Amino acid sequence: MHSPQPATPPRRALGANTLTALASAAFATVYSLAFWRLLVASDLPPGLAGAGFLFAAFLVLFALNGLFLSLLAWRGVQKPALAGLLVVAAALAYFMDGFGAVVDRHAVQSVLETDLREGSEWLSWQMAAYLLGLGLLPAVLLMRLPVHYRPWPRELLARGGFVLLLFVLMGAAIAPFARDFAATARNHGQLRHLASPLNLLNALRGYVKHAGPSEPAVVAPLGADARQAGPSEAEPLLVLVVGESARASSFSLGGYARETNPELAAAGVAYFGNVRSCGTNTATSVPCLFSNLGRAHYDEARAKGQENLLDVLVHAGFFVEWEDNNTGSKGVARRLPEERMGAAGPGSDCPAGGCTDEVLIEHLRLEIERKRGLDEVFVLHQIGSHGPAYYERYPDDFARFRPDCRSAALQSCTPEQIRNSYDNTILYTDHVLAQLVALLREEGKHRPTALVYVSDHGESTGESGLYLHGAPYALAPDEQTRVPMIVWTSPAFEAWRGLDPACVQARRDREISHDHVFHTLLGLLDVKTSAYTPALDALAGCAPAA
Ligand SMILES: [Zn+2]
Repeated sequence: MHSPQPATPPRRALGANTLTALASAAFATVYSLAFWRLLVASDLPPGLAGAGFLFAAFLVLFALNGLFLSLLAWRGVQKPALAGLLVVAAALAYFMDGFGAVVDRHAVQSVLETDLREGSEWLSWQMAAYLLGLGLLPAVLLMRLPVHYRPWPRELLARGGFVLLLFVLMGAAIAPFARDFAATARNHGQLRHLASPLNLLNALRGYVKHAGPSEPAVVAPLGADARQAGPSEAEPLLVLVVGESARASSFSLGGYARETNPELAAAGVAYFGNVRSCGTNTATSVPCLFSNLGRAHYDEARAKGQENLLDVLVHAGFFVEWEDNNTGSKGVARRLPEERMGAAGPGSDCPAGGCTDEVLIEHLRLEIERKRGLDEVFVLHQIGSHGPAYYERYPDDFARFRPDCRSAALQSCTPEQIRNSYDNTILYTDHVLAQLVALLREEGKHRPTALVYVSDHGESTGESGLYLHGAPYALAPDEQTRVPMIVWTSPAFEAWRGLDPACVQARRDREISHDHVFHTLLGLLDVKTSAYTPALDALAGCAPAA
C-alpha cells in the first residue's frame, strides 16, 4: 500500500510572510533613500536618542509597508504585484534621488497630462541603470524565487499573526518617541511623499479625489457684461506670451550678472521683477493665471467650472486664439480655437525634441496677415526653459554660455553646465520676445499693439539640491516662485489707451503676483466689466478709467 506523499514545500522556499518582510525592508531602505536623506537633515534629537529615533522610524516604515504588502500576499498575486512595484519604485527612486522630486498628486497629474514627447525626454542612461538595477533585475529574480503558500485557512491564520506582530512592532517603536514622531510629521509633512511605495498610493488617492469631471456639465459665465470701451475702429492687438519655467533670478533685466536679456534691454520694455507665481507647476499655474480666483482661492475644479480671462475678452468682442508650443492650454482655451505648433504632421520641420519657440513668431506673422478686421488677442504658450533637456530648447547659435549640458540626465552634468544650459534658454527667450516686439512694432504703424509676457513658474537648477520645479508651494525656493513679467506697448497703443509709459515703468518694482494678470489685462485693453477689480490691476491709474 502506498499512501500519497504529503505535499512538502521545496527546500529553501520562502513563506509568503517572509517575502513580505523582505520586500518591506527593501522598500523602506534602498527605494526610499530620499526619505532618509531628508529625515537625517531634519532636527533630530541629539546623540543616541537621534539614532534611536531613526531606528524607530525604520521600524514604523517597515511595518507600514508590511501592512500594505500583506494585502497582496496571496498565491498568484504576490510575486507579480511585488515585481511591478519594484519597477515603479525604481523609477520613483530615480526622480527622487536625482532631481529632489516628491511623489504627490501634482506629480501624478503632470505625468498623466504630459504628452509623449515630453515624457521621452526623461529617458537617459542613468534612468536605464535605475530601472535595470533596482527594477527589472530584482523583479526577474523575484519571479524565479520559490515561494511556498499554505492552504488558505492556515495562510490566513499566519497572515493574521503577522499583521498583529506588525502592529505591536509599530506601537513599540512609536511609544518612546511619540513627541518626535508628532513634531516630524508636523514639520516635515513632505516625508510622506518620499517613501515608496506608499507615496505612490497616497498620490494616486489624492489625484483621484481631486480629479473632477474633465468637462464640467455647466460652466458658470464670467464677465458676460464685458465690453470694449475704446474707439471701435481701433482694432487693438495684444499678444500674451505665457512663459515656461523661466525664473526672475536669471533675467539680466532684473539684475542677474550674466547678460541674458541683451535684445529686450535694447527693445525698451518694462520689466517687472517681483511677480509671484500661482503654483510651482504648469498644471496649477496656467489655469490659475487665467482665472479670477487668485492663489488663495484657486482650486482646479472651481476654475474648470467657470469662465476665465479669455472668455471675458470674447464677451467684450475680441477674437482670441491660443497658439501652443507647449503641452496644451490645460483647459483654459477649451471654448476657443487652439492651435498646436509643429503638430507632427507632414511638412512639420520640427525635430524630434519639438519646435524651438521661433515657430511662434512665424505663426503670429501669419495670423496677423489674415487681417480679420477685429480686436485681437493671441496667447502664445512657449516651451521656454522646459527641463530637463534644456539644450533642446535653443538653437546652436544661442549656446552662448559654455560648456552647456547636452543631456537630459542632469546628474551627469556639472552645476556650471546645467546653469549654462538654463541661461541659454533664457537668452533664447530674450531673442524670441524681442522678435515678437519687433513684429508688433511694425504692425503698430497700423493699429494699437502690445505685448505682455509672464512665466508660469520658476525653476531650480541645483540650488539646495533641488532641480526643475514642482516643490510644495509653502516650501518652494524663490527660484521656483518668482517669475519674470514684461509689458511692452506701441506708441499707437499708448495713444489709443491714453497710457503713460513712465507710469508703467514706475510700477516695475511693485510686489505683485499672478493674481494681478487677469485684471491688469482687462485694464490694459480698456474692457469694462463687473469682473474687473482695479485694486488687482498692476497698472491702474496709468491710463484713464472710464
Ligand atoms: Zn510650466
